Amino acid sequence: MVADAQVQNDIAVDSSEEQDLTDGFHLLIEALQLNGLHTIYGVPGIPITDLGRMAQAQGMRVISFRHEQHAGNAAAVAGYLTGKPGLCLTVSAPGFLNGLTALANATTNCFPMILISGSSEREIVDLQQGDYEEMDQLAIAKPLCKAAFRVLNARDIGIGVARAIRAAVSGRPGGVYLDLPAALFGQVMDAKEGAASLLKVIDPAPRQLPAPESVERALGVLRGAKRPLIILGKGAAYAQADDIVRDLVERSGIPYLPMSMAKGLLPDDHPQSAGAARSLVLKEADVVVMVGARLNWLLSHGKGKSWGAPGSKKFIQIDIEPGEMDSNVEIAAPLVGDIASCAAALLEGMGDNWAAPPAEWLAMVEEKRSVNLAKMAQKLGADTTPMDYHSALAALRLVVKDNPDIMLVNEGANTLDFARSIIDMFEPRKRIDVGTWGIMGIGMGAAVAAAIETGNRVLCIEGDSAFGFSGMEIETICRYNLPVCIVIFNNNGIYRGTDVNPTGNEDVAPTVFVKGIRYDRMMEAFGGIGVHATSRDGLDAAVRAALESGKPTLINAVIDEASGTESGRIGNLNPQSVVKKK
Ligand code: ADP
Ligand code: MG
Repeated sequence: MVADAQVQNDIAVDSSEEQDLTDGFHLLIEALQLNGLHTIYGVPGIPITDLGRMAQAQGMRVISFRHEQHAGNAAAVAGYLTGKPGLCLTVSAPGFLNGLTALANATTNCFPMILISGSSEREIVDLQQGDYEEMDQLAIAKPLCKAAFRVLNARDIGIGVARAIRAAVSGRPGGVYLDLPAALFGQVMDAKEGAASLLKVIDPAPRQLPAPESVERALGVLRGAKRPLIILGKGAAYAQADDIVRDLVERSGIPYLPMSMAKGLLPDDHPQSAGAARSLVLKEADVVVMVGARLNWLLSHGKGKSWGAPGSKKFIQIDIEPGEMDSNVEIAAPLVGDIASCAAALLEGMGDNWAAPPAEWLAMVEEKRSVNLAKMAQKLGADTTPMDYHSALAALRLVVKDNPDIMLVNEGANTLDFARSIIDMFEPRKRIDVGTWGIMGIGMGAAVAAAIETGNRVLCIEGDSAFGFSGMEIETICRYNLPVCIVIFNNNGIYRGTDVNPTGNEDVAPTVFVKGIRYDRMMEAFGGIGVHATSRDGLDAAVRAALESGKPTLINAVIDEASGTESGRIGNLNPQSVVKKK
């Protein structure tokens, strides 16, 4: 059959006048559209410039960036928000490598995306004869993503796209690389056969039901709990099982802790939120139910001082990835399956007469929570000049409270740590941040995807250093006229702006920037609105005006250069030298 088809293809090429023909370009675009993928984030160039043009002409949304990493970050965020793979399109070798950072980051975060890269001629690349942008891209991508495929024949484009989609979204989602050599795009074949070669993936992310005995085991552990805790991770947010997750939390009566991107799955002011009693609940809980969260560095690997006495905890873990179980500590009750199915099974097993956790435990959590909330309220009350993190965030906190539907993008060191704990979220999947790696540079890519995919307004809270990684994409934001308001917490440097070079020579310290940068003027250069804000009231007014107008806006918020700590809250990860040089 395949051989026949090939013969027919050859005939088709020869007698092109009589036959309707299609080619690699069109087949790829149609394969994507057939699967409901209508947006491409990328950077044009050889050999995919025409692909972008034609995709736009065929009705796809093609969003061009200034650098591939940001296009890739946008695709990853699109995947997270929609549950469909976000698409990133790059040129060969260098463009591909720029996109690869985002693909690896997406994979680490369990976000579905597909990096589609053009590549140079296989025959020349494999003989290392020095082609334009020569690189064995498939081999390089493989260890950095969930799956990698190359399509050599136009008739395989449909299958290639289908495999990429299924690999990206089934099981634990992740990044997929699709290698398309330049020669593929121009390959022609009979249009009818071409259309027949495309497929719409059926049930790309099938439900995965937990085994009944696993559910029983989990309920058994939960029944014996005296101080239970639920931890919600971004896997739970990704799963879009919002009602059922909320049901599980509320019907169990168990205090819960949201990981940063799970904030808003239940509103942060929910009475069961233990966010303000985080240290206490991690230390004191005896049974911890992990829902789409991993026991990685963000949770001190589930052990050590912050988790109380060794052996004092039993873990129940819901995850779609069986290999995640026991990654760091023993999981007493692994529940392998998708979150909606696992939560539904637990709810069914709990029935209507599930006993609330012991009142003593709830009182202990509540007491800590109210003490900490009061302390925080006091800190937020101080209106300092220049602004510090608390006074600036006190304003933004209220803006988000008044506009719970806006998308919040947040990166930086101190800017991230403070904003995460100070700004309450009220709706699911509204907060996008640095994720599992704690990566810098997701800001503008995430903002673009958040605006495009949701149609909502976006508030980006950026450290000045973090902004620098993707800052040029404010041109992209202006070009597409996206309702994005960027607030830069400008404290003249990385962590702080006060470091000095101890040698006294003319170079400044490695962590400081030009003092008093006017980032707002960059925005004006691209036709956006720039605001220089030196007070809390000024910041508040500017953000509200930006959200009201929906116009691309950048607010340069001047923060005391002495406020901020080394590496924010993860300074403990810095190795310290014990050697004193004379
Ligand atoms: P956080 O950083 O918020 O703690 P992680 O990214 O560490 O979250 O963990 C997310 C987890 O969710 C991953 O282990 C992933 O396998 C899992 N996951 C993602 N989607 C689903 C789903 N639909 N059902 C079950 N588990 C999921
Ligand atoms: Mg800074």
